[in-house]
Amino acid sequence: MEKGKTIRIALAGNPNSGKTSIFNRITGAHQKVGNWPGVTVEKKTGFTDFKGYRLEVVDLPGTYSLTAYSLEERIARRYIIEEKPDVVINVIDAGNLARNLYLTTQLLEMGADVVLDLNMWDEVCKSGADLDLEKLEELLGTPVALTVGHRGEGVDTLLNMVVELVENQSDRHRHVPITYGSHLEHVVKGLATLIEKGSSVSNRYPPRWLAVKLLEGDEEIEKIFSDDNSANAELKGAVEAACEHIHKTTGSDPERVISENRYGYIDGALREVIREKPRDRMELSRQIDLVLTNRLLGYPVFLVLMWLLFQLTFSLGAYPMNWIETGVEWLAGLGTTAIPPGLVHELVVDGVIGGVGSVIVFLPNIMILFLGVAFLEDTGYMARAAFITDRIMHFMGLHGKSFIPMLMGFGCSVPAIMTTRTLESRKDRVLTTLLIPLMSCSARLPVYILFAGVFFPDSAGNVIFLIYLTGIVVAFLIGRFFCKILFRGEVAPFVMELPPYRWPTLLGLFIHMWERAKIYLKKMGGVILVASVVLWFLGAFPRNVDYSVDYDAQINSLESVGTPEVETQIAELEAAKAAESIEKSYIGRLGHLVEPVIRPLGFGWRMGVSLLTGFVAKEVVISSMGILYQVGEETEESESLKEALGDPRHGITPLIALGFMLFVLLYTPCVVAVIAVRREIGTRWMFFNVLYQVVLAWMVAFLVYQGGMLLGLG
Ligand code: GDP
Ligand code: MG
Repeated sequence: MEKGKTIRIALAGNPNSGKTSIFNRITGAHQKVGNWPGVTVEKKTGFTDFKGYRLEVVDLPGTYSLTAYSLEERIARRYIIEEKPDVVINVIDAGNLARNLYLTTQLLEMGADVVLDLNMWDEVCKSGADLDLEKLEELLGTPVALTVGHRGEGVDTLLNMVVELVENQSDRHRHVPITYGSHLEHVVKGLATLIEKGSSVSNRYPPRWLAVKLLEGDEEIEKIFSDDNSANAELKGAVEAACEHIHKTTGSDPERVISENRYGYIDGALREVIREKPRDRMELSRQIDLVLTNRLLGYPVFLVLMWLLFQLTFSLGAYPMNWIETGVEWLAGLGTTAIPPGLVHELVVDGVIGGVGSVIVFLPNIMILFLGVAFLEDTGYMARAAFITDRIMHFMGLHGKSFIPMLMGFGCSVPAIMTTRTLESRKDRVLTTLLIPLMSCSARLPVYILFAGVFFPDSAGNVIFLIYLTGIVVAFLIGRFFCKILFRGEVAPFVMELPPYRWPTLLGLFIHMWERAKIYLKKMGGVILVASVVLWFLGAFPRNVDYSVDYDAQINSLESVGTPEVETQIAELEAAKAAESIEKSYIGRLGHLVEPVIRPLGFGWRMGVSLLTGFVAKEVVISSMGILYQVGEETEESESLKEALGDPRHGITPLIALGFMLFVLLYTPCVVAVIAVRREIGTRWMFFNVLYQVVLAWMVAFLVYQGGMLLGLG
C-alpha cells in the first residue's frame, strides 16, 4: 500500500471490551454517528491521519459471536465480509481472554486481517497475570497490541501495528486456520473442498468459513447458496450427511459441537500462553455475587440500594439547591430593579427567570441521581440488577435484557427508548418501549421534590421512593396485561453478561454523570425557555381584564391612608387582583376548560394547566406552577412557590398532592419521548402509548383521591 492512501479499519469486540473508548481515542473529534443501512442500530465512523495514511475507522456493534441470530452480529459480519476492511482491530478484555477470543476465532476464520488488541491491560497487570504474548502472536498469527482504552495508553503502538500490517512488514501476520479437533476437522475440510470446487460463492467468501457456517445451519449463508444454483443439490446433500455424521458420532447437534471445539481451541492456546495464573478477578466477583445475586438476598439489597440513592438525591441535594435558589432570587431581584415596570420586565422576571429558575434549582438533585446511577453502572452492579430481575421480567414476557433500557428510563425516556434497538424481537422492543415511560424520568423528579417537600416534609425521601416504586409496580402489571392481550409468544433465551466488579474511576463517574446532565441543561436552554415564555404570554394576555372589583381604586385609597396596618391589606388586594388577572387570561381559560375532567381527581384548574403544559417537558409542570401560583408575590421567587402551594387558599391537601404526583408519574411522556416512541415502533403504537398512559394516570389519581376521601383522609 502506498503512502497517503486510506486504510479502512473496523473495530470488533465483545460489548464492554472498550471498543468505543479505543474508537474515541483514535478518531478524537472526527466522528460521525449515523445508522446502519436499513436498521436502527447506531453506526459510528471517524477518521484520523497517521503516519501519512488516512485511517477510516468504523465502530462495529459489540458482539460475542458472529452467527446470524442477532441484528448486531449480522451487521458486524456483513461489514467484515462484504466491505472487506483492510484491518480488523479486535478489541479484547484481556482480563477475560477465554471468552473474548471466541469472537477472534471467528474473525480469523472469516479471513480478516486482524490486529488483536488486548485492552484493559491495566487490570491484567494489577491481577498479577503473566502472559507469553509472543506465543499468542505466533499461535493466532496476529500482531498483539496492549492498550488501556479509557486512558489512551498504547493506542499509538496499536496504530503502528495496523500500518505495519498493511505495509506487509509484519512477519507476525499469517493466516492460521482455526482447527476443530480430528473428527470435526475432517468434515469441515471435506465440505470446504467441495465448496471451493463447485461454487462461485467461494470466490467471495473463505470456503472454510462457509463450510462451518453451513454446518451451524446459518440461514443467511444457506440463502446465499440457494441463490446460487450451480452447486446447490450436491452441496446440500453433503451438508446434511455431515450434520448427521456429527450428530451420530457426538450425540449433539453440529452447532454446539462447533462452538465447543472453538472453546477447546482457545483453551489449548491459552494453556500455552498463560505462564502465571492471574489472581482471579472473576473469583472475587463470584464471591460478591454469592450475596448480590442471591435468590433471597438479591432483591432486598437491590431495593435498599435504590432507596439509599433516592434518600441521597433528596437530602444531599437540598444544600446546593438552596444556593441556586438564592442565586435565582438574586437574579430576579436584579431584574426587578434594573428593568422598568412593563411588559419586558414581566417577561424577563416572571417568564424567563421565574420559569427557567424554578426548574434549574433541581439540577443538583438530578446530578446526584445520575452520579449514583453512574456508580452502580461502572462498578458492574447494574448488570447484576439485570441478572436478578431476569426472572421477574419473565412475568411480563420480557427478559433481563429489557431491564437496562427500562432502568435508563429513570434518567430520560428518550435515550432509553433508543436503546430498545438492541433487543432482538420486535415484541420485546414494542413492549419495552411502551413500559419505559412508566419508569419515572428525572424530569419528573422536580415535581416530586416540590410536592413531597411541601406536603410530606418529614418523609419526603420515602414518598419519592414510593412514587418510583409505584411506577415500577404499575409497569409490571401493565406489562403482564399487555403481554397477555397484545403479544403472545416465546421468550427467546440469551446469556446474561456478568462482567467482573470494577472500582470505578472518579473521572469516569463524572463523565458519565455529565453526559446525562448535559441533556437536562440543554433542555433548560431550549424547550423549557421557550415553554416558559409561551406560558408567560398565555398568562399575561389579554391585558384588558374586566375585574370584578375595582382593585386599583381600593388600593389607591388605602395607600393614601399610609399607616403600616394597611400594608397587608394592600398586599392582599394586589394578590387578589393578580389572581383574577391570571384566571381571566388565556391560560386561565384553558385551565377552566379542562377543569371538569380533572375535578374528580381533586385537581384545580392551575394544576390542570400545569399538566397540559407538562407535555412539552415534564419540568415545565413546575415552571407553569411557578408562573401560576407566584402571582403577586414577586419577591423570593421559588420560596414563594412552596408557600403558595401549601397555602390553604389553593385547597391542595396531601391526598391531592399524592394523586397529582402519581398523575405526573403515569401520564403521557413529554413530546420528545413521544417522537422517540414513534421513531422506534411506529405511529399507531405511539397513539396507543399516549392514550393508555392518560387513561391510566387518570384512573390511578381518581382511585387515590376518591378512595382517600372515602377513608376520610382528605
Ligand atoms: P464498548 O462497549 O466495547 O464500546 O466499551 P466502552 O468503550 O464503552 O468501555 C466500557 C467500560 O470500560 C467503560 O467504563 C470504560 O471506561 C472502561 N474501559 C475501557 N477501556 C478500559 C481499560 O483499558 N481499562 C479499564 N480499567 N477500563 C476500561
Ligand atoms: Mg460501545
